[in-house]
Amino acid sequence: MIGLALALQIAGAALPVPTFIVVRDGSITSSVPVTINGGEPSVRADVLMKAMKGILVTGTNLHYTLALPRARLDLIDGIPFAKRDTLTIPLTRAPQVRGGQLYLPFQFVNEIIPRYGGGYYYDVAQGELRTISQAPLARAPASLPGAPTKPPARVLDSPAAAAQAPPVRAPAPSKPAQRQLVVIDAGHGGPDNGMTGPIGSPAWFVEKDVTLAVAKKLATVLRARGVDVLMTRTTDTLIALADRGKLANSNHGDVFISIHVNAPGYNTAKAAREHGFETYFLAEAKTEDERRVQDMENESVKFETGANAGKGDPLSFIITDMAQNEHLRESSDLAQTIQNGLIEVHPGPNRGVQQANFAVLRGSYMPAVLIEIGFGSNQSEATYLSDDANQRALARNIAGSVIAYLAHYESRIGGTR
Ligand SMILES: [Zn+2]
Repeated sequence: MIGLALALQIAGAALPVPTFIVVRDGSITSSVPVTINGGEPSVRADVLMKAMKGILVTGTNLHYTLALPRARLDLIDGIPFAKRDTLTIPLTRAPQVRGGQLYLPFQFVNEIIPRYGGGYYYDVAQGELRTISQAPLARAPASLPGAPTKPPARVLDSPAAAAQAPPVRAPAPSKPAQRQLVVIDAGHGGPDNGMTGPIGSPAWFVEKDVTLAVAKKLATVLRARGVDVLMTRTTDTLIALADRGKLANSNHGDVFISIHVNAPGYNTAKAAREHGFETYFLAEAKTEDERRVQDMENESVKFETGANAGKGDPLSFIITDMAQNEHLRESSDLAQTIQNGLIEVHPGPNRGVQQANFAVLRGSYMPAVLIEIGFGSNQSEATYLSDDANQRALARNIAGSVIAYLAHYESRIGGTR
Protein backbone atom coordinates (compact mmCIF):
# COMPACT_ATOMS: atom_id res chain seq x y z
CA MET A 1 0.00 0.00 0.00
CA ILE A 2 2.92 2.32 0.62
CA GLY A 3 4.23 1.73 -2.89
CA LEU A 4 0.88 2.39 -4.50
CA ALA A 5 0.25 5.63 -2.67
CA LEU A 6 3.72 6.86 -3.54
CA ALA A 7 3.32 5.96 -7.19
CA LEU A 8 0.04 7.83 -7.37
CA GLN A 9 1.57 10.92 -5.87
CA ILE A 10 4.49 10.89 -8.26
CA ALA A 11 2.21 10.26 -11.22
CA GLY A 12 -0.11 13.05 -10.11
CA ALA A 13 2.74 15.52 -9.84
CA ALA A 14 4.17 14.70 -13.25
CA LEU A 15 0.96 14.70 -15.28
CA PRO A 16 -0.30 17.74 -17.13
CA VAL A 17 -3.64 18.87 -15.74
CA PRO A 18 -6.06 20.25 -18.33
CA THR A 19 -8.51 23.08 -17.71
CA PHE A 20 -11.31 20.65 -18.46
CA ILE A 21 -11.58 16.99 -19.35
CA VAL A 22 -13.77 15.29 -21.91
CA VAL A 23 -15.82 12.27 -20.96
CA ARG A 24 -16.38 10.16 -24.06
CA ASP A 25 -18.91 7.35 -24.11
CA GLY A 26 -19.29 6.13 -27.68
CA SER A 27 -20.19 9.14 -29.75
CA ILE A 28 -21.40 11.15 -26.77
CA THR A 29 -18.96 13.59 -25.23
CA SER A 30 -19.33 15.91 -22.25
CA SER A 31 -16.83 18.31 -20.84
CA VAL A 32 -16.10 18.58 -17.15
CA PRO A 33 -14.25 21.67 -15.91
CA VAL A 34 -11.17 21.19 -13.78
CA THR A 35 -11.08 23.80 -11.05
CA ILE A 36 -8.35 24.68 -8.63
CA ASN A 37 -9.42 24.21 -5.03
CA GLY A 38 -6.90 25.02 -2.32
CA GLY A 39 -4.19 25.07 -4.98
CA GLU A 40 -5.07 21.57 -6.19
CA PRO A 41 -6.89 20.52 -9.36
CA SER A 42 -10.33 19.11 -8.66
CA VAL A 43 -13.51 18.18 -10.47
CA ARG A 44 -17.03 18.60 -9.22
CA ALA A 45 -18.42 15.19 -8.37
CA ASP A 46 -21.96 15.81 -9.60
CA VAL A 47 -20.78 17.21 -12.93
CA LEU A 48 -18.41 14.29 -13.46
CA MET A 49 -21.11 11.77 -12.54
CA LYS A 50 -23.59 13.33 -14.94
CA ALA A 51 -21.03 13.18 -17.74
CA MET A 52 -20.36 9.53 -16.93
CA LYS A 53 -24.08 8.60 -16.76
CA GLY A 54 -23.69 7.99 -13.08
CA ILE A 55 -25.22 9.59 -10.00
CA LEU A 56 -23.70 11.33 -7.03
CA VAL A 57 -25.58 9.98 -4.02
CA THR A 58 -25.46 12.15 -0.91
CA GLY A 59 -25.71 10.05 2.21
CA THR A 60 -25.71 10.98 5.86
CA ASN A 61 -22.73 11.93 8.00
CA LEU A 62 -20.74 13.40 5.10
CA HIS A 63 -20.88 10.13 3.14
CA TYR A 64 -21.15 10.16 -0.64
CA THR A 65 -21.36 7.50 -3.28
CA LEU A 66 -20.26 7.82 -6.86
CA ALA A 67 -22.78 5.44 -8.43
CA LEU A 68 -21.25 4.66 -11.81
CA PRO A 69 -22.91 2.33 -14.32
CA ARG A 70 -20.58 -0.55 -13.38
CA ALA A 71 -19.09 0.39 -9.99
CA ARG A 72 -19.84 2.23 -6.79
CA LEU A 73 -17.20 4.23 -4.99
CA ASP A 74 -17.93 5.38 -1.45
CA LEU A 75 -16.39 8.57 -0.10
CA ILE A 76 -16.45 10.70 3.00
CA ASP A 77 -15.96 14.45 2.90
CA GLY A 78 -12.52 15.24 4.29
CA ILE A 79 -11.25 11.63 4.41
CA PRO A 80 -8.43 10.63 2.08
CA PHE A 81 -9.82 7.19 1.33
CA ALA A 82 -12.32 5.84 -1.15
CA LYS A 83 -13.98 2.49 -0.83
CA ARG A 84 -15.21 0.01 -3.41
CA ASP A 85 -17.02 -2.91 -1.84
CA THR A 86 -14.59 -4.04 0.84
CA LEU A 87 -11.54 -2.53 -0.83
CA THR A 88 -10.14 0.64 0.71
CA ILE A 89 -8.33 2.91 -1.70
CA PRO A 90 -5.91 5.53 -0.36
CA LEU A 91 -6.21 8.98 -1.94
CA THR A 92 -3.51 11.59 -2.26
CA ARG A 93 -6.05 14.16 -1.05
CA ALA A 94 -9.49 13.97 0.51
CA PRO A 95 -12.68 14.83 -1.38
CA GLN A 96 -13.92 18.18 -0.07
CA VAL A 97 -17.23 19.97 0.05
CA ARG A 98 -16.91 23.60 -1.00
CA GLY A 99 -19.78 25.94 -1.61
CA GLY A 100 -22.21 23.08 -1.08
CA GLN A 101 -20.60 20.90 -3.76
CA LEU A 102 -18.39 17.85 -3.43
CA TYR A 103 -15.09 18.22 -5.26
CA LEU A 104 -12.92 15.24 -6.13
CA PRO A 105 -9.15 15.48 -6.42
CA PHE A 106 -7.97 15.16 -10.02
CA GLN A 107 -6.55 11.79 -9.03
CA PHE A 108 -10.08 10.44 -9.52
CA VAL A 109 -9.90 11.29 -13.22
CA ASN A 110 -6.45 9.93 -13.99
CA GLU A 111 -6.13 7.09 -11.47
CA ILE A 112 -9.10 6.14 -9.36
CA ILE A 113 -11.87 5.91 -11.93
CA PRO A 114 -9.66 4.25 -14.58
CA ARG A 115 -8.53 1.72 -11.98
CA TYR A 116 -11.67 1.15 -9.95
CA GLY A 117 -14.53 2.77 -11.87
CA GLY A 118 -15.53 -0.24 -13.95
CA GLY A 119 -14.31 0.13 -17.53
CA TYR A 120 -12.77 3.55 -18.03
CA TYR A 121 -9.51 4.68 -19.47
CA TYR A 122 -7.89 8.10 -19.13
CA ASP A 123 -6.01 9.43 -22.12
CA VAL A 124 -3.51 11.86 -20.64
CA ALA A 125 -2.56 13.48 -23.94
CA GLN A 126 -6.17 14.16 -24.89
CA GLY A 127 -7.49 14.81 -21.40
CA GLU A 128 -10.21 12.31 -22.15
CA LEU A 129 -11.90 9.82 -19.88
CA ARG A 130 -13.37 7.10 -22.09
CA THR A 131 -15.33 3.95 -21.67
CA ILE A 132 -12.94 1.07 -22.16
CA SER A 133 -14.30 0.10 -25.60
CA GLN A 134 -12.88 3.36 -26.96
CA ALA A 135 -9.50 2.94 -25.31
CA PRO A 136 -7.67 1.03 -28.06
CA LEU A 137 -8.81 3.40 -30.83
CA ALA A 138 -5.98 4.86 -32.85
CA ARG A 139 -6.85 8.46 -33.42
CA ALA A 140 -5.48 11.39 -35.27
CA PRO A 141 -3.50 13.86 -33.20
CA ALA A 142 -5.68 16.54 -31.71
CA SER A 143 -4.99 19.72 -29.85
CA LEU A 144 -3.89 19.27 -26.26
CA PRO A 145 -6.65 19.80 -23.77
CA GLY A 146 -4.52 22.27 -21.88
CA ALA A 147 -4.79 24.71 -24.78
CA PRO A 148 -7.14 27.63 -24.11
CA THR A 149 -9.93 26.43 -26.38
CA LYS A 150 -12.83 27.55 -24.21
CA PRO A 151 -13.52 28.58 -20.67
CA PRO A 152 -15.17 26.23 -18.19
CA ALA A 153 -18.89 25.98 -18.75
CA ARG A 154 -19.81 27.22 -15.28
CA VAL A 155 -18.44 29.28 -12.49
CA LEU A 156 -18.53 26.61 -9.87
CA ASP A 157 -17.76 28.54 -6.76
CA SER A 158 -20.25 31.34 -7.33
CA PRO A 159 -22.59 32.12 -4.46
CA ALA A 160 -25.54 31.48 -6.78
CA ALA A 161 -24.35 27.96 -7.50
CA ALA A 162 -23.87 27.35 -3.82
CA ALA A 163 -27.29 28.75 -2.99
CA GLN A 164 -29.00 26.41 -5.46
CA ALA A 165 -27.17 23.37 -4.17
CA PRO A 166 -29.02 21.08 -1.80
CA PRO A 167 -27.75 21.27 1.77
CA VAL A 168 -25.01 18.75 2.29
CA ARG A 169 -24.59 18.88 6.01
CA ALA A 170 -27.65 18.45 8.15
CA PRO A 171 -28.37 21.56 10.22
CA ALA A 172 -27.52 21.06 13.85
CA PRO A 173 -30.73 20.39 15.76
CA SER A 174 -31.03 22.18 19.05
CA LYS A 175 -30.77 19.89 22.02
CA PRO A 176 -30.49 20.57 25.70
CA ALA A 177 -26.99 20.22 27.04
CA GLN A 178 -26.30 16.78 28.40
CA ARG A 179 -23.37 15.29 30.16
CA GLN A 180 -20.86 13.67 27.96
CA LEU A 181 -19.25 10.30 28.46
CA VAL A 182 -15.58 9.73 27.84
CA VAL A 183 -14.49 6.11 27.74
CA ILE A 184 -10.93 5.73 28.98
CA ASP A 185 -9.09 2.57 28.14
CA ALA A 186 -5.90 1.79 30.06
CA GLY A 187 -3.92 -0.38 27.67
CA HIS A 188 -3.16 -4.03 28.47
CA GLY A 189 -3.63 -5.51 31.96
CA GLY A 190 -3.55 -8.82 33.80
CA PRO A 191 -1.27 -11.34 32.08
CA ASP A 192 -0.72 -8.84 29.27
CA ASN A 193 2.02 -6.51 30.51
CA GLY A 194 2.27 -4.57 27.29
CA MET A 195 5.83 -3.40 26.71
CA THR A 196 8.49 -3.56 29.38
CA GLY A 197 11.63 -1.47 29.56
CA PRO A 198 13.92 0.28 29.40
CA ILE A 199 16.09 -1.42 26.83
CA GLY A 200 19.43 -2.51 28.28
CA SER A 201 18.29 -2.16 31.88
CA PRO A 202 16.53 -4.50 34.22
CA ALA A 203 12.93 -4.12 33.11
CA TRP A 204 11.38 -2.04 35.83
CA PHE A 205 8.90 -0.23 33.59
CA VAL A 206 5.68 -2.14 32.85
CA GLU A 207 3.29 -0.54 30.36
CA LYS A 208 0.05 -1.86 31.90
CA ASP A 209 0.81 -0.15 35.23
CA VAL A 210 1.64 3.23 33.73
CA THR A 211 -1.36 3.21 31.38
CA LEU A 212 -3.63 2.48 34.33
CA ALA A 213 -2.04 5.21 36.46
CA VAL A 214 -2.44 7.83 33.72
CA ALA A 215 -5.94 6.62 32.84
CA LYS A 216 -7.07 6.99 36.45
CA LYS A 217 -5.62 10.49 36.67
CA LEU A 218 -7.30 11.42 33.40
CA ALA A 219 -10.61 10.14 34.78
CA THR A 220 -10.19 12.21 37.93
CA VAL A 221 -9.55 15.42 35.98
CA LEU A 222 -12.44 14.86 33.58
CA ARG A 223 -14.89 14.07 36.37
CA ALA A 224 -13.79 17.17 38.24
CA ARG A 225 -14.59 19.17 35.11
CA GLY A 226 -18.11 17.76 34.78
CA VAL A 227 -17.54 15.00 32.25
CA ASP A 228 -18.74 11.47 32.89
CA VAL A 229 -16.11 8.78 32.59
CA LEU A 230 -16.24 5.07 31.99
CA MET A 231 -13.03 3.13 32.44
CA THR A 232 -12.60 -0.17 30.62
CA ARG A 233 -10.54 -1.37 33.57
CA THR A 234 -9.66 0.09 36.96
CA THR A 235 -7.54 -2.79 38.19
CA ASP A 236 -4.82 -5.06 36.86
CA THR A 237 -7.15 -7.22 34.80
CA LEU A 238 -7.32 -8.28 31.18
CA ILE A 239 -10.25 -7.06 29.13
CA ALA A 240 -10.48 -8.46 25.61
CA LEU A 241 -9.71 -5.83 22.99
CA ALA A 242 -13.05 -6.39 21.28
CA ASP A 243 -14.89 -6.01 24.57
CA ARG A 244 -13.34 -2.62 25.28
CA GLY A 245 -15.07 -1.18 22.24
CA LYS A 246 -18.31 -3.01 22.99
CA LEU A 247 -18.28 -1.61 26.50
CA ALA A 248 -17.88 1.88 25.07
CA ASN A 249 -20.71 1.37 22.58
CA SER A 250 -23.21 -0.13 24.98
CA ASN A 251 -22.67 2.81 27.30
CA HIS A 252 -23.04 5.33 24.46
CA GLY A 253 -19.65 6.89 24.91
CA ASP A 254 -18.94 10.17 23.18
CA VAL A 255 -15.26 9.53 22.69
CA PHE A 256 -12.95 6.61 23.29
CA ILE A 257 -9.38 7.16 24.46
CA SER A 258 -6.92 4.32 24.75
CA ILE A 259 -3.65 4.99 26.56
CA HIS A 260 -0.47 3.12 25.76
CA VAL A 261 3.31 3.32 26.01
CA ASN A 262 5.51 2.85 22.97
CA ALA A 263 8.54 0.67 22.30
CA PRO A 264 10.67 0.38 19.18
CA GLY A 265 10.48 -2.82 17.20
CA TYR A 266 14.08 -3.85 17.88
CA ASN A 267 16.35 -3.89 20.94
CA THR A 268 19.51 -1.95 20.29
CA ALA A 269 21.24 1.03 21.81
CA LYS A 270 19.82 3.13 18.96
CA ALA A 271 16.32 1.84 19.66
CA ALA A 272 16.73 2.77 23.31
CA ARG A 273 17.05 6.41 22.28
CA GLU A 274 13.64 6.54 20.57
CA HIS A 275 11.34 8.92 22.42
CA GLY A 276 8.36 11.19 22.01
CA PHE A 277 4.58 10.98 21.88
CA GLU A 278 2.13 10.19 19.11
CA THR A 279 -1.62 9.80 18.79
CA TYR A 280 -3.31 7.33 16.51
CA PHE A 281 -6.72 7.18 14.96
CA LEU A 282 -8.27 4.23 13.22
CA ALA A 283 -7.29 3.67 9.63
CA GLU A 284 -5.10 1.31 7.75
CA ALA A 285 -1.47 1.65 8.84
CA LYS A 286 0.50 3.39 6.12
CA THR A 287 4.12 3.34 7.23
CA GLU A 288 6.38 0.68 8.65
CA ASP A 289 6.48 2.52 11.95
CA GLU A 290 2.69 2.73 12.15
CA ARG A 291 2.47 -0.97 11.31
CA ARG A 292 4.94 -1.80 14.07
CA VAL A 293 2.89 0.02 16.71
CA GLN A 294 -0.31 -1.50 15.36
CA ASP A 295 1.10 -5.03 15.57
CA MET A 296 2.53 -4.41 19.01
CA GLU A 297 -0.77 -3.18 20.44
CA ASN A 298 -2.81 -5.86 18.69
CA GLU A 299 -0.57 -8.51 20.27
CA SER A 300 -2.86 -8.40 23.31
CA VAL A 301 -5.23 -10.65 21.41
CA LYS A 302 -2.95 -13.61 22.11
CA PHE A 303 -3.72 -13.32 25.81
CA GLU A 304 -7.42 -13.60 25.16
CA THR A 305 -9.13 -16.96 25.07
CA GLY A 306 -12.59 -18.29 24.41
CA ALA A 307 -15.47 -16.40 22.87
CA ASN A 308 -13.94 -13.02 23.50
CA ALA A 309 -10.73 -13.74 21.65
CA GLY A 310 -10.02 -11.56 18.64
CA LYS A 311 -10.54 -13.09 15.25
CA GLY A 312 -8.51 -12.79 12.10
CA ASP A 313 -5.06 -11.62 11.27
CA PRO A 314 -4.53 -7.96 12.13
CA LEU A 315 -1.93 -7.72 9.37
CA SER A 316 -4.45 -8.54 6.68
CA PHE A 317 -6.66 -5.68 7.69
CA ILE A 318 -8.65 -3.61 5.27
CA ILE A 319 -11.32 -1.28 6.55
CA THR A 320 -14.19 -3.67 6.06
CA ASP A 321 -17.03 -1.27 6.38
CA MET A 322 -16.26 2.37 6.11
CA ALA A 323 -19.93 3.18 6.63
CA GLN A 324 -19.68 1.82 10.16
CA ASN A 325 -16.68 3.96 10.74
CA GLU A 326 -18.35 7.27 10.16
CA HIS A 327 -16.26 8.83 12.87
CA LEU A 328 -12.99 8.58 11.00
CA ARG A 329 -12.68 12.31 10.53
CA GLU A 330 -13.77 13.10 14.07
CA SER A 331 -11.19 10.61 15.29
CA SER A 332 -8.55 12.29 13.20
CA ASP A 333 -9.57 15.70 14.59
CA LEU A 334 -9.52 14.39 18.14
CA ALA A 335 -6.07 12.86 17.62
CA GLN A 336 -4.78 16.17 16.28
CA THR A 337 -6.28 18.11 19.20
CA ILE A 338 -4.65 15.80 21.73
CA GLN A 339 -1.35 15.79 19.93
CA ASN A 340 -1.31 19.61 19.72
CA GLY A 341 -2.07 19.82 23.42
CA LEU A 342 0.67 17.45 24.52
CA ILE A 343 3.31 19.64 22.93
CA GLU A 344 2.78 21.99 25.89
CA VAL A 345 3.77 19.50 28.58
CA HIS A 346 5.62 16.59 27.06
CA PRO A 347 9.41 16.83 26.58
CA GLY A 348 8.81 15.42 23.14
CA PRO A 349 9.48 15.19 20.37
CA ASN A 350 6.07 15.45 18.79
CA ARG A 351 5.89 12.38 16.57
CA GLY A 352 2.62 13.54 15.10
CA VAL A 353 -0.78 12.07 14.40
CA GLN A 354 -0.59 8.57 13.00
CA GLN A 355 -3.05 6.13 11.59
CA ALA A 356 -3.20 2.43 12.18
CA ASN A 357 -5.71 -0.32 12.62
CA PHE A 358 -5.99 -1.06 16.29
CA ALA A 359 -8.32 -3.83 17.33
CA VAL A 360 -9.23 -1.81 20.41
CA LEU A 361 -10.38 1.17 18.32
CA ARG A 362 -12.09 -0.93 15.67
CA GLY A 363 -15.05 -1.91 17.78
CA SER A 364 -15.90 1.54 19.07
CA TYR A 365 -18.43 3.46 17.00
CA MET A 366 -17.48 6.88 18.24
CA PRO A 367 -14.47 9.11 17.74
CA ALA A 368 -11.61 6.99 19.03
CA VAL A 369 -7.89 7.50 19.45
CA LEU A 370 -4.94 5.66 20.91
CA ILE A 371 -2.25 7.76 22.59
CA GLU A 372 1.30 6.48 22.86
CA ILE A 373 2.39 8.77 25.70
CA GLY A 374 6.08 8.00 25.28
CA PHE A 375 8.68 5.27 24.96
CA GLY A 376 9.09 3.06 28.01
CA SER A 377 12.09 1.55 26.27
CA ASN A 378 13.99 4.82 26.71
CA GLN A 379 15.62 5.22 30.14
CA SER A 380 14.84 8.90 30.58
CA GLU A 381 11.36 8.72 29.09
CA ALA A 382 10.54 5.67 31.25
CA THR A 383 11.57 7.77 34.26
CA TYR A 384 9.49 10.70 33.05
CA LEU A 385 6.40 8.55 32.47
CA SER A 386 6.70 6.86 35.87
CA ASP A 387 6.67 10.15 37.74
CA ASP A 388 3.40 10.93 39.50
CA ALA A 389 3.52 14.68 38.83
CA ASN A 390 4.31 14.12 35.16
CA GLN A 391 1.44 11.67 34.86
CA ARG A 392 -0.89 14.28 36.36
CA ALA A 393 0.37 16.92 33.93
CA LEU A 394 -0.21 14.59 30.99
CA ALA A 395 -3.68 13.71 32.28
CA ARG A 396 -4.64 17.38 32.79
CA ASN A 397 -3.42 18.22 29.32
CA ILE A 398 -5.23 15.34 27.62
CA ALA A 399 -8.40 16.17 29.58
CA GLY A 400 -8.21 19.77 28.39
CA SER A 401 -7.92 18.63 24.78
CA VAL A 402 -10.79 16.19 25.13
CA ILE A 403 -13.05 18.85 26.63
CA ALA A 404 -12.11 21.34 23.93
CA TYR A 405 -12.75 18.71 21.30
CA LEU A 406 -16.12 17.73 22.79
CA ALA A 407 -17.29 21.34 22.80
CA HIS A 408 -16.31 21.67 19.14
CA TYR A 409 -17.79 18.30 18.19
CA GLU A 410 -21.08 18.99 19.93
CA SER A 411 -21.45 22.35 18.26
CA ARG A 412 -20.85 20.72 14.90
CA ILE A 413 -23.22 17.77 15.11
CA GLY A 414 -25.71 19.14 17.62
CA GLY A 415 -25.15 16.34 20.08
CA THR A 416 -26.82 13.69 17.94
CA ARG A 417 -25.31 10.42 16.92
ZN1 LIG B 1 0.29 -0.80 24.51
